Amino acid sequence: MRLDFITIFPRLIEDYLSDSIMKRELLKGTIEAHTHDIRSYSKDKHHKVDARPYGGGAGMLMTPQPLYDCIMAVKKLNPKAPVIYMAPRGRTFTYKTAKRLARKEGLIILCGRYEGIDERIRELCIDEEISIGKYVLAGGELPALVVAEAVTRLLPGALGDERSAHEDSFTEALDGKREYPHYTRPPVFKGLAVPEVLQKGNHADIARWRKDKLT
Ligand code: SAH
Repeated sequence: MRLDFITIFPRLIEDYLSDSIMKRELLKGTIEAHTHDIRSYSKDKHHKVDARPYGGGAGMLMTPQPLYDCIMAVKKLNPKAPVIYMAPRGRTFTYKTAKRLARKEGLIILCGRYEGIDERIRELCIDEEISIGKYVLAGGELPALVVAEAVTRLLPGALGDERSAHEDSFTEALDGKREYPHYTRPPVFKGLAVPEVLQKGNHADIARWRKDKLT
């Protein structure tokens, strides 16, 4: 899957992608990721990307010209991808959203800053608005990475152990929403022992125990 991030802080995205699971999946080729600096599309002589809102009000808005040119350029590189705007008032991101997006060939994710984007960009360019929760952050970079990582986990070939995404919370295998308790070494920690059934290794017993303990 091809991921394109549109942002004024490409390094925030690149730093996160340069480690851990995202780095591994990039190296494996499960995903391909590109960042695009909105500022470099600005035709303003100072490369400005924000301006005061018409009608007054607090803060600045992202101006349409750099955003439009950047989004259009990126759409040529990732033509089948929906353009997703990370927005506090968008539809709340869930496991189900991640599943749906994981079936796309690519995603173009627009990270807002300031007080958000000019309404005409929403009208002209945005296919979908996604929120990661009912609170407001300073920018769309963290939300974009949340979406990208949740989707990446679900791609075929992602993760070291193929089964692990299927055993995640919320998956169908776990009744849609639940998970069982997990234990690892040591067998006793601060007086709390790992349940005997898990230590014995009888698969049928373990499956029954886990089903029983779903929360
Ligand atoms: N005044 C705006 C807040 C803008 S916050 C409002 O009330 O809607 C600046 C940017 O951060 C937004 O454009 C969006 O891209 C991003 N952002 C902030 N909180 C977010 C959230 N909960 N989910 C997704 N994106 C968010």
